[in-house]
Amino acid sequence: MIYEPEAETRPREQLRALQLDRLQSLIEYVKTRVPLYRDRLANVDPADIASLDDLRRLPFTRKDDLRDTYPFGMFAVPREEVVRIHASSGTTGKLTAVGYTAADIDLFARVNARSLAMAGGERGMTLHNAYGYGLFTGGLGLHYGGERMGMAVVPVSGGLTERQLMLITDFRPDVIACTPSYALTLAQAFRERDVAPEKISLRYAVLGAEPWTEAMRREIDAGLGVRSTNIFGLSEVIGPGVSCECVEERAGAHVNEDNFLPEIVDPNTGEPLSEGEEGVLVFTTLTKEALPLIRYWTGDITSLRSDPCACGRTLARMDRIKGRADDMLIIRGVNVYPTQVEAALLQLPELTPNYRIVISRSGTLDEADVEVEVSEEFLGDEELRARAEARLRESIGCSIGVRLSARGSVPRSEGGKLQRVLDRREL
Ligand SMILES: [Zn+2]
Repeated sequence: MIYEPEAETRPREQLRALQLDRLQSLIEYVKTRVPLYRDRLANVDPADIASLDDLRRLPFTRKDDLRDTYPFGMFAVPREEVVRIHASSGTTGKLTAVGYTAADIDLFARVNARSLAMAGGERGMTLHNAYGYGLFTGGLGLHYGGERMGMAVVPVSGGLTERQLMLITDFRPDVIACTPSYALTLAQAFRERDVAPEKISLRYAVLGAEPWTEAMRREIDAGLGVRSTNIFGLSEVIGPGVSCECVEERAGAHVNEDNFLPEIVDPNTGEPLSEGEEGVLVFTTLTKEALPLIRYWTGDITSLRSDPCACGRTLARMDRIKGRADDMLIIRGVNVYPTQVEAALLQLPELTPNYRIVISRSGTLDEADVEVEVSEEFLGDEELRARAEARLRESIGCSIGVRLSARGSVPRSEGGKLQRVLDRREL
């Protein structure tokens, strides 16, 4: 089912005309309302932007711009018109605040309703929403989307797995929304209680807010008896609902391009790249009122494609996020993202997803080893180790040594997150 057929199946030529029209209005809007853009775009006249190719003449907006103007310096409306404020914390601990007008909240609900429909959701279904509710945009985004669609939303939020199992068993939801790692936790918990996947009412899973792989998808689909799709978003752009995979193809997430104009640019030069090429994902928000952003540099590495899709949507699709431009490692001259390492390792079922990459330097060359946890029976399994190294070499294009270690040996941070990279070059 397509939630807003007219907007989601528009011929691409018409879509581009609409985007250009909205872009020109946006430039006028931000120049008169946001001091930072008044200065940066002083020499840009909306009439100079004659085609979407002229986007490249506009400067990027970066996370630091939001931090430097924290909390509300980039808001384009008076505080009185803001009806919601979310915030996210970065690794530095400094917050970024984002605001929504009533119209922005309406958009937030619509793009999440679209996403739920892409993922298989329909009016009348029950949505078990296990995303965190709070300053994080995930919980409320899917919540509003589900209600807008006409679903019965169960606002469970994250954690308390025992209670989640009870609610899923009793309320028999059709759709679950949560992080992929939490979906795996739930699948494992059902398995431990001998509940077979076909006994679980869930049919679709909308998963996001962290990187995951096709191998994890297979595990989740089998474990919960669902068809899972990847939803993508970031609070600066709106939150979840920026893009979502369709359940028909599950080959890239359809970007709600009439509202969020995507570009892929070279991580080093900032020059636009062509369709299919990998680079940094950049968004211009075409319709947001409170926090409109011009060419926001997400730092996420992916590619775009706009070929036709079986679902009938004409919206371009973005590939899975391959990594962060800042996380990119250069090993023996090859660009490597930790998520690529993960994807390669997960092809071997004997390995767990718990790993870390240790970078060191021998002479002038950077070298890498991967430490990956396995169950006791595989410790010291030379054949498995060799197979893992071969798999890494094939998919990444450089040699990375593998060490098999006992479960629990890769250090966890306080929040239980694994520390994926240890850079010994800095020590
Ligand atoms: Zn599709």
